[in-house]
Amino acid sequence: MTHYEILAKASDGKLTPTEVYNLETYGVKHPSEFAPDPEDESFCVCGKKIDDCDEAYEHITSGY
Ligand SMILES: [Zn+2]
Repeated sequence: MTHYEILAKASDGKLTPTEVYNLETYGVKHPSEFAPDPEDESFCVCGKKIDDCDEAYEHITSGY
């Protein structure tokens, strides 16, 4: 039994193991309450926006 399952059981079924995990990790039961930051999608590794970086593909694939 995992740590999260133990805590879920201790909550008398109010929380699922997934919710316990999310509470510990994100501070909320459902991380979708936060809009995840899509920084990996929109910024090149050199710091420019993907749209502004002419070498975004090379920068990302070469690790800059
Ligand atoms: Zn770049």
